[in-house]
Amino acid sequence: MPNLTKQQPHNKENELDKLKIEMSKDKSLPLLKNATRLVFGVGNPESKFIFIGEGPGYWEDQKGEPFVGNAGKLLDRLLQSIKLDRSKIYITNVVHHRPPENRDPTPEEIAAYAPYLDRIIEIINPKLIITLGRFSMAKFLAGVKITAVHGNNFDIKLNGKDIIVIPMYHPAAALRSSQVMELMKNDFLNLSETISRIKNEPAGKQLNLI
Ligand code: URA
Repeated sequence: MPNLTKQQPHNKENELDKLKIEMSKDKSLPLLKNATRLVFGVGNPESKFIFIGEGPGYWEDQKGEPFVGNAGKLLDRLLQSIKLDRSKIYITNVVHHRPPENRDPTPEEIAAYAPYLDRIIEIINPKLIITLGRFSMAKFLAGVKITAVHGNNFDIKLNGKDIIVIPMYHPAAALRSSQVMELMKNDFLNLSETISRIKNEPAGKQLNLI
């Protein structure tokens, strides 16, 4: 008898859905008890680049989606300024439950969520990672200061793969300081140039942005 069960396509969206279910069942996650909901990630699973923030705030916790509050609105405007929108990227955070009172996540909390973030990155398999703020920056670039390195391109190896990491200020920092806002706008213009440059590189190095 042939097996007529319809096979689910083995694609990134399914993988992310499965991971999200697994994560929502994980009662050991340290920020779970004070959070309203899991804020897993959002965007295009086929994207070649990921934006990684810090952790959900009030609105993200209410809606279950990253960057939907004031910082998110600024992020959307910055993306629009270089003709990118959320349908073209994937966005997630270093921790996926809201820290109480929006405090900074502790190193232990970041470590507890890291296996999930690592698997999100592995599934998406990005060419470019844009970190937003110092916590996601520290995951990839040890011992650097955001004031010194923001907007620069770093070539790193992640699980044997070549990836570009671009550390950016957190949008919330830009909302607090007009000086940081100007730096961040400029970093986005440079990001746009990096994307175009990579797109025009010869085959083999090509970044097929979705
Ligand atoms: N700040 C973050 O770092 N992440 C969010 O999802 C929202 C605000």
